[in-house]
Amino acid sequence: MSGPDDVELAVGADAFTKDGRGLEVAVVGAGAVGATAAYDLAREGADVTVYDRGSVASGASGRAAGICYDAFADGLDAEIAGDAIERFRALSGDDTFAFAECPYVWLAREDDPDRADAIRDQVGRMQENGVVALELEGDALSDRFPALRTDDVAVAGIAGAAGYADPAEYTACLAAAATGAGATLETEMPVEVRPDPARVIRPDGAVHEVDAVLVAAGARTGGLLADAGLELAVKPYRVQALVADVDLSEPMCYDASGDFYLRPHAEGVLAGDGTEEREADPDGYDREADPEFRTDLRERISHRVPALDLAAENAVTRSWAGLCTATPDRDPLVGQVRDGFYVATGFQGHGFMRAPAIGQRLADEILGSDGVAAFDPTRFDGDEEFEIATGTTTEPN
Ligand SMILES: Cc1cc2nc3c(=O)[nH]c(=O)nc-3n(C[C@H](O)[C@H](O)[C@H](O)COP(=O)(O)OP(=O)(O)OC[C@H]3O[C@@H](n4cnc5c(N)ncnc54)[C@H](O)[C@@H]3O)c2cc1C
Repeated sequence: MSGPDDVELAVGADAFTKDGRGLEVAVVGAGAVGATAAYDLAREGADVTVYDRGSVASGASGRAAGICYDAFADGLDAEIAGDAIERFRALSGDDTFAFAECPYVWLAREDDPDRADAIRDQVGRMQENGVVALELEGDALSDRFPALRTDDVAVAGIAGAAGYADPAEYTACLAAAATGAGATLETEMPVEVRPDPARVIRPDGAVHEVDAVLVAAGARTGGLLADAGLELAVKPYRVQALVADVDLSEPMCYDASGDFYLRPHAEGVLAGDGTEEREADPDGYDREADPEFRTDLRERISHRVPALDLAAENAVTRSWAGLCTATPDRDPLVGQVRDGFYVATGFQGHGFMRAPAIGQRLADEILGSDGVAAFDPTRFDGDEEFEIATGTTTEPN
């Protein structure tokens, strides 16, 4: 990992001023979203301090699978994901982080006609929105991706603008670039936040009043706002992943009927499955993967990619759990909640792939542009009752 001085990311010289001084911004959370926003704010001349209760990428961004694509049927989602892919490509490199281009296949089985219809519909809508996606059926799929078992596949979608990165590496790189652009990074610093006026409170009670606070604290964002007297319609939920020591060069694949995903990884294959549909406690959730998860997922992967030898339990070299965040409408909560008080959470397992674009939009909003109206966090009162909807890390919308 390069240090701040080595990172070849652009550092702008414009000094942004408000009331004759540099805009002071506190970013709470050095995950992929907070680090990106901090970088974009700092290079515009804002006086940025990033606080993290642990280390950089110690939340979901250090546990994510790193799958990225622009295969969203909704136009806004596709635009944001497309911008993010472009930025992954532009920022990645030998001195920053690796972004590996890799096609993304999502498929439904013959005995799952509803999901098959949904995929056909999604691909049609993606094509209307200018997303490079195509529909393939069994034989054509197996010609293109011989590693995949296709005899039980009804239909697959293929997204061309797709790839993967190591989320911890991306986040560390963007945090380093932010400090290179002048931001201050304070790790091991669990802060509280308050609106009106926007401020952070350090563990020793010291108050830092700023022009803007951005709470990008992942699964802890709802709790931090509740402590500040603000309700946010967001719930954390637990998901699991593993790495197995087997070789696969392509594709990345989401088996929608089998509810799991996999991608090539430097140490073999990285795979994970769906959502635990109950609220998790960020302080109390089990960070280890369940033994049944490992056994069950090995079987599902072997079914889809028969050449992978996963018979032995020790084929799985690592496994873990992490937290994602759900909202009532499955769209994120991104933008201003109170004057000078912003949040970014609720990414339904798609926060890493959107971080380069969401961070940039947040920075623009804090610097005075309009936010993304559809993601306005105040579209909910915050006290809504809602179920956590299945939202695997790779489920196309
Ligand atoms: C197993 C797994 C697989 C995933 N796979 C993918 C994938 O393939 N693609 C994808 O797009 N997304 C994926 N995700 C989702 C993705 O990880 C998240 O959406 C994304 O990382 C969210 O980034 P963030 O910056 O918002 O939050 P986080 O990365 O959680 O960062 C929040 C930070 O805030 C800090 N913090 C919290 N409270 C405080 C406080 N009081 N004071 C200071 N700091 C605080 C935390 O320490 C943490 O570092 C996956 C998630 C998991 C768990």
